[in-house]
Amino acid sequence: SFQSDVVPQAPEDPLFGLMAAFRRDTDPNKVDLGIGAYRDDNAKPWVLPVVKRADETLRKDPNLNHEYLPIAGLAEFTSASQKLVLDADSPALKEKRATSLQTISGTGAVHLGALFLSKFYHPNTQRTVYFSDPTWPNHFQIFSNVGLPYKTYPYFSKKTKGLDFDGMVSSIESAEEGSIIVLHACAHNPTGVDPTQEQWKKIAEVIRAKKHFPFFDTAYQGFASGDLARDAWAIRYFIEEGFELCIAQSYAKNFGLYGERAGCFHFVTSPGSDAESTVSRVASQLAILQRSEISNPPAYGARIASLVLNDKELFAEWEANLKTMSGRIIEMRKALRSKLEELGTPGTWNHITDQIGMFSFTGLSEKQVLKLREDSHVYMTKNGRISMAGLNTHNVEYFAKAVDKAVK
Ligand code: PLP
Repeated sequence: SFQSDVVPQAPEDPLFGLMAAFRRDTDPNKVDLGIGAYRDDNAKPWVLPVVKRADETLRKDPNLNHEYLPIAGLAEFTSASQKLVLDADSPALKEKRATSLQTISGTGAVHLGALFLSKFYHPNTQRTVYFSDPTWPNHFQIFSNVGLPYKTYPYFSKKTKGLDFDGMVSSIESAEEGSIIVLHACAHNPTGVDPTQEQWKKIAEVIRAKKHFPFFDTAYQGFASGDLARDAWAIRYFIEEGFELCIAQSYAKNFGLYGERAGCFHFVTSPGSDAESTVSRVASQLAILQRSEISNPPAYGARIASLVLNDKELFAEWEANLKTMSGRIIEMRKALRSKLEELGTPGTWNHITDQIGMFSFTGLSEKQVLKLREDSHVYMTKNGRISMAGLNTHNVEYFAKAVDKAVK
């Protein structure tokens, strides 16, 4: 029989534990810089106006029902998702070298990709997955749950609070040939540090030389810079270079559809006469994996995103909404840096504005983080990461002063 006493207690998810602690705190000045979700200038969740419009349109549709989607999801959604990430003119689309499935947001896409690779990527010789150090912590769990061993490559330089480019490249260079290299397409979580385009070219060169397999995780397209093409540059460059790769795409942040779980997994093969056949075989296996895991994906979020992605006018409105979110975050980066510099807070603070996206790796130590929580009711993860979206014109000065106090 099943012996339930052999099940050990697992630790609480640190991020969700932090959220609970924040909710329990009754101080009126408390600041939540933990969770990675956009907040407006009043620290409230923001439903994108374009999402509201699409939602109203959907609700008015008398033919809308609650039938199952196909196994691979809503076709208008997956094809629009391909165009969004790869570009409508991508050679990979013209040459039918891509296959895509709708997934349970970005997490589900990473999982489906990991599961597929664990079964079909060099099935007779175990391959290692490489993550940046640090990375989105869920990467470790997702890949180890499907039995793939992992290692990390250096990424963040504590000294410059920027990219440890040499460390990253030499680690990928010395990884066993044919490893799987997980890359954040833009707005690296948790550091906010991205390679430059020149650095991406070098990274691609090393990955090619070692016959590694690139796995892009893109959870912030348009949310990082406000420019969809710019945030997809690295992926599109790898495609142009003819790589075979996969992509996990999330619509949580850039559509604010967090709880609706809209996402997409893409597999793109290299150019060649057998490309169409490869894609068809891969698609058939992915469909079986999807069927056994979730049968078919949830419809609602994908319908909303699909309406917007496939309508010129709504698409333009979405781009404006993306500029509102990314613009507010960029403003908060400037404000935080200038307030810390005004206060003469020890250390350099240029990294706050050099970094991009939802998160900033402040360089604050665990001790300082805990001091901020105790003295000032500021909640952030122990590694010194803050969610920029938690800052606003009402609390940025309070936070800067709290940091100043914790550092001095
Ligand atoms: N990948 C990265 C790097 C992320 O930061 C996130 C969200 O925080 C995700 C994937 C997936 O998020 P979701 O499953 O909500 O789309």
